[in-house]
Amino acid sequence: MTEKQIVDSKVKCPKCGSRNLTLLELWKNHDISWEQIGGKFDMKDGVLEMGDPYKMEAECSKCKHHWTIRGALQIGCIIKPLTPNTQTATHDR
Ligand SMILES: [Zn+2]
Repeated sequence: MTEKQIVDSKVKCPKCGSRNLTLLELWKNHDISWEQIGGKFDMKDGVLEMGDPYKMEAECSKCKHHWTIRGALQIGCIIKPLTPNTQTATHDR
C-alpha cells in the first residue's frame, strides 16, 4: 500500500517568498524531483537509497528563480520535524 506522506518543507523562494517550488535532489547518476505546493510536498517517492546525493536545488514555480539549497543534500534535510506540539521555548520569568 502506498500511502501519501505529506510533509512540511522549510524551503521557500528567496526572491519572491513563494512556497510553490520544484525541489531537486542531485545524485551522481540521476536526480529526484518533488513538487512542493504551498510549502508541502508528498515524499512517498523519496525512497532512501544508498548512494551519494551531492546537492539540492530548487526552482520557484512563480518567478522561475533557481537556486541551490545551502546545507541540504537530501530531501530529509529540508523537511520540518513532525512535532505535533509546537514547543514554545519562550520561558518568561
Ligand atoms: Zn520566486
